[in-house]
Amino acid sequence: MKIDRITATVFRTMTDQMKDSDGHGHPGPAHEVRSGLLQIHADDGTTGQVTASVGDIEEGLLERFVRPVLLGQDPLRIEKLWHGLYHWQRGSNMKLTDRTLCAVELALWDLMGKVTGQPVWKLLGGYHDKILAYGSTMCGDDMEGGLSTPQDYARFAEWLVGTRGYKAVKLHTWMPPIPGAPDVRMDYAACAAVREAVGPDIPLMLDPNHWYSRSDALWLCQRLEELGFHWIEEMMEEASLSSYQWLTARTPRLNILGPESMAGKHWTRAEWAAKGACDMMRTGVWDVGGIIPALRTAHLADSFHMSCEVHGTGAGNLAVVAAIPNTRFYERGLLHPFLDYDKPRDYQNRIDDEMDAEGYVHLRDTPGLGQDLNMDFIEAHRVQDPHR
Ligand code: MG
Repeated sequence: MKIDRITATVFRTMTDQMKDSDGHGHPGPAHEVRSGLLQIHADDGTTGQVTASVGDIEEGLLERFVRPVLLGQDPLRIEKLWHGLYHWQRGSNMKLTDRTLCAVELALWDLMGKVTGQPVWKLLGGYHDKILAYGSTMCGDDMEGGLSTPQDYARFAEWLVGTRGYKAVKLHTWMPPIPGAPDVRMDYAACAAVREAVGPDIPLMLDPNHWYSRSDALWLCQRLEELGFHWIEEMMEEASLSSYQWLTARTPRLNILGPESMAGKHWTRAEWAAKGACDMMRTGVWDVGGIIPALRTAHLADSFHMSCEVHGTGAGNLAVVAAIPNTRFYERGLLHPFLDYDKPRDYQNRIDDEMDAEGYVHLRDTPGLGQDLNMDFIEAHRVQDPHR
């Protein structure tokens, strides 16, 4: 079997989210945006595919870097193809990103699943057939009844746990340009209100502003220790490994989780584990360049008796979470009182991560990654010339 065609489709889709001036998502008026679908076609008629951001699967990237490595090759030799693309990254002047690498690799895994008739999470090891999700909130905002006060977070957490069935909650708190943010005391007030609302037994996590000083970070961590939080993530710039070593050594009762957005795939993460810069490891397919480096991270964490908590939502991350033993949760979100996360987007027949009333996401037995897309919608809303 050989790869004979690689195509990217850009299509129009509606969203009810908007980005603020710093790039954080919030609820907003419904409007049209563009999304993408990457497809890798084999000469036996099998197609592997994955949805992706348009910028990650641009035609220029496919033509310069992806087709030269993949065309004519056996699509099932994913490790070899991943290395071929990875080696191209150095010579690409940073144009071939880990996100593009991820999109290509996920489409290859989808193809592998379709050829073998197996779901990807089983091909990777298949440890969990269901996994508890944590409800991961959007960043704080200044919308009345949204996430603008500690009481808003408390009310929403109560709904997530008491009504929707989540067994764990993670807060993203306020960041600029929200007035008054960032502020560790505001973060603490939200965390304390949520703990009060959900009681002592629900695991809680925090992802605050990413650029606190060591002293602010330590103050916040010590308060979270008092509140019995399960972990905190990315409260300082992750490029400073020493700062994370310093903080991890001073917070014996709180798990420091990382690194999340740091470049360097599993190699960076190995340094963090070896140097005691975190208590739990972080990986995510879109952060590290696909399933292969995400699994490497998870397995090295296992070798250090550490859990590996996977960043981000979607079919690729869900496959990794299900594959590995040393993880506790799937991240489901981002969630907001004004948005209905459970409703499929216009291009989906079903969302990637349906959750039951007990808070479990169940893995599907359909071959491939498990995305259930409305291909007629995507075709009908195709953008003929994506450069316009
Ligand atoms: Mg995070």
